[in-house]
Amino acid sequence: MAKKTVKKTAKKAAKTNKMVYAFGGGKADGNGKMKELLGGKGANLAEMAGQLKLPVPPGFTITTEVCTHYWNNKKTYPKTLKADVEANLKKVEKLTKKEFGSEKNPLLVSVRSGARASMPGMMETILNIGLTEKTIPGMIAKTQDERFVYDAYRRLIMMYSDVVMEKAAGIEPKDGEGIRKILDGMLGELKKKLGVTDDTQIPAEELKKLCVEFKKTVKKVLGKEFPDEPTEQLWGAIGAVFASWNGKRAIAYRNIENIPHDWGTAVNVQTMVFGNMGETSATGVAFTRNPGNGDSHFYGEYLINAQGEDVVAGIRTPSPMNKWSSNAHSAHLPTLEKTMPKVYKELDAIQKRLEKHFHDMLDIEFTIEHGTLWMLQCRVGKRNGTAAVQMALDMLKERLINKETAVLRVTPHQLGELLLPAIDPKAEAAVKPVAKGLPAGPGGASGKIVFNSDDAIKLQAAGENAILIREETNPEDIEGMRAAAGILTQRGGMTSHAALVARGWGKCCIVGCSELELNPAKKTVTMGGKTYKEGDFLTLNGTKGWVYDGALKMLEAGEGNKNLAAFLKLADSIRTMKVRANADTPEDAANARKFGAEGIGLFRIEHMFYGKNSDAPLFILRKMILAGNEIERQAAVNELFPYMKKSIKETIKAMAPYSVTIRLMDPPLHEFVPTLHAKQLELAKALGIDMKTFQDRAAGLHEVNPMMGHRGIRLGVTYPEITEMQSRAIFEAAAELIKEGIKAVPEVMIPLTCDVNEIVKQKAIIRRVYEEVVAKTKVKKMNFSVGTMIEIPRAAVLAYEVAGEADFFSFGTNDLTQMTFGFSRDDIGSFLPEYLKQGILQADPFQTLDQRGVGMLIEHAVAEGREAKPNLKIGICGEHGGDPESVEFCHREGFTYVSCSAFRVPIARLAAAQAAAKEALAKKSK
Ligand code: ADP
Ligand code: MG
Ligand code: MG
Repeated sequence: MAKKTVKKTAKKAAKTNKMVYAFGGGKADGNGKMKELLGGKGANLAEMAGQLKLPVPPGFTITTEVCTHYWNNKKTYPKTLKADVEANLKKVEKLTKKEFGSEKNPLLVSVRSGARASMPGMMETILNIGLTEKTIPGMIAKTQDERFVYDAYRRLIMMYSDVVMEKAAGIEPKDGEGIRKILDGMLGELKKKLGVTDDTQIPAEELKKLCVEFKKTVKKVLGKEFPDEPTEQLWGAIGAVFASWNGKRAIAYRNIENIPHDWGTAVNVQTMVFGNMGETSATGVAFTRNPGNGDSHFYGEYLINAQGEDVVAGIRTPSPMNKWSSNAHSAHLPTLEKTMPKVYKELDAIQKRLEKHFHDMLDIEFTIEHGTLWMLQCRVGKRNGTAAVQMALDMLKERLINKETAVLRVTPHQLGELLLPAIDPKAEAAVKPVAKGLPAGPGGASGKIVFNSDDAIKLQAAGENAILIREETNPEDIEGMRAAAGILTQRGGMTSHAALVARGWGKCCIVGCSELELNPAKKTVTMGGKTYKEGDFLTLNGTKGWVYDGALKMLEAGEGNKNLAAFLKLADSIRTMKVRANADTPEDAANARKFGAEGIGLFRIEHMFYGKNSDAPLFILRKMILAGNEIERQAAVNELFPYMKKSIKETIKAMAPYSVTIRLMDPPLHEFVPTLHAKQLELAKALGIDMKTFQDRAAGLHEVNPMMGHRGIRLGVTYPEITEMQSRAIFEAAAELIKEGIKAVPEVMIPLTCDVNEIVKQKAIIRRVYEEVVAKTKVKKMNFSVGTMIEIPRAAVLAYEVAGEADFFSFGTNDLTQMTFGFSRDDIGSFLPEYLKQGILQADPFQTLDQRGVGMLIEHAVAEGREAKPNLKIGICGEHGGDPESVEFCHREGFTYVSCSAFRVPIARLAAAQAAAKEALAKKSK
């Protein structure tokens, strides 16, 4: 169905919609809001040219709808596209006073990809289109610079043969030896022969000869002549950009970033400006603020006498924009501020205007041709978590944004970065780095070294940390970079591909570590006089760019950032939903409070039976489980009581004055039966029974489907003495605390309810015990409440009745998801991956709440529950309580709180604040 709709709209679009949007000369057909149609690059080129009247080389954008048409119609274009492109090319010729294909005054263009969401380096761009045997003499005559023209030509041949003639044509080169590699090799050979290190040092004559050789090689390798017709070059490039939308690495990137595959890319055709015209020309990339740490200084890098691809590829070490941008590698190089003060001033003024206009940090691409500045791109800049927090706080202070926007500027993922491991400073101070590179992605990482993407993926799959070491990364490495805990490259600057991608992901990354001696074939690397082989340990400090020998000690989450508390405070000031933690021990509770938890939403009594101090209570629990009659069971229960009371008391104390929701036991009974013979013997002895009886009883506990068996409240229904003991432990613990002057408001939670009558019966027991405890301890006033988990669909459906007896609902979305889908959570491994692959489900419902199905049950239960009891407290305590999307859902549904594991609490605080901020902003804009 979806496919049909796409086709239909695409056809319609082809007939009715404008397909080509011009920009340049202070005007533009489109604007910055039209990202869906023009792609991010096209929309912002239009905004810069039309709205801001910045110096943008004239050009035009072919819409993403044409890309959709192209893919839905066997790679063909709408009929009128050709005429539209011709008409727009005429406009550009008029503005530039040049002519495409002219012998005297030729216009050259670039053909650039640009999707709605930025996909750095994943698609293609081809420069210098329009250079042919016929136009070359004209270019030379005009520029009086033969070296430059042949440099541009050799670049065109390299890019075009690779992108258009090979990749887009679907040619799969043998052994990864594509045409690009071959031509790169020839260029390298030539430099060696001439004894030069830099492209710019190759004389014109040599470049000219190289171009001839290049074309011969192209013919030989690809079996086709390099096209010498400007129009053929243009359409070849346009087609290749559309084709690159479905290139392997573009698809892989979209899968990782969750970018829909049906969006399509736009194509931007733009007048070439030249940064490779000698010493007064340059090209660069800049950020309006430092994307690595958030400092509010203009930051960037440039290369004299170079074309854009040189910066991105990280081939030469770029020079710093200004003193704020210099680093260990570039400190000795002259800044743009010094070498071209006038242009720098102009650029600085533009970047300031851009920030004011877009209210955000921008990433800018520019080129300087003979001292004239041209803007080639701007977009909201990727940044890491540290920078995102710093910028949000700074921009709020500068009144560039309001506080809702500030809170929305840091994604939960970025916040997560700040909570990620860093190297323990003490451990770090004790050792010396073995190598230093550029700090491209912050935080620390320690792990085993690997030398290619596949090995990184394998190591991650084995549950180990990989440090991926590469000469330089290219977009093909994307999956390996994702899998690695840290990335280390020998080449590349702060704006190279590896740096850009790592920053986007908040991955620990060091680039340009030129002191490495790398041997990828042998899988060894030498630094600091020592040779490391695959599997050896290294530790990276991505914040400093330093590499250490071995595995250094790492810090606990969240200990490293000075702005974290201030930012979360800001988030808390907007948030309306409370955030609690799931915690089972006093230590957990204390830890949760450090992360800002406002209570415990789920305290699982049975967790006292796990872990280090559990031997005694576990033994008693086992006795209870394997008791043969009520008397035996009561004896075990009585024995268990003091342990339980202590654990509850200490946890409430650690969380006071916040409330603790104590869930009555929901143990998987069979899991607690010992499997070791010696343990069985010991237990049988304690129970005073022989092994035969023991085994019979154990066998009696066996269940065909334990997840739906004798668990949860059912245990309390069949063995009321167990509920009684737990209630007594809870109330006595609370009473003792109250006497100590500590606030204790226990919330008793009944698990796995399916019918209100279960609650009626259990409450009668709980209430009776409460009266007894009050009478016995003589506490004056004790508040408590009794609520239930909603984790069986029937309880959700009958929520009106259930709420009549419950003081609160807590959605146990793990079980609720399990029971709604009928998927056993422990068995999804065998089928869920296929469901995701086939697109039957969009996401794992155990990770992200299924808002359509499970969500509908929740919505119903909330509505019915609140109808029965308007001030019914509602929370969630499943794993979803820490998932940002699910938290937003809970906010919309009017939950009182979410509860999640302690270390997710800051994420949940932010997610809850963002949900409230979105709501507030939507209201304001109305
Ligand atoms: P990406 O999306 O991968 O950044 P771009 O389309 O931005 O690809 O192109 C990469 C680089 O090529 C740009 O940063 C710029 O330096 C250079 N470039 C693109 N178009 C032009 C042009 N018309 N004139 C000069 N340089 C260009
Ligand atoms: Mg770009
Ligand atoms: Mg449950």
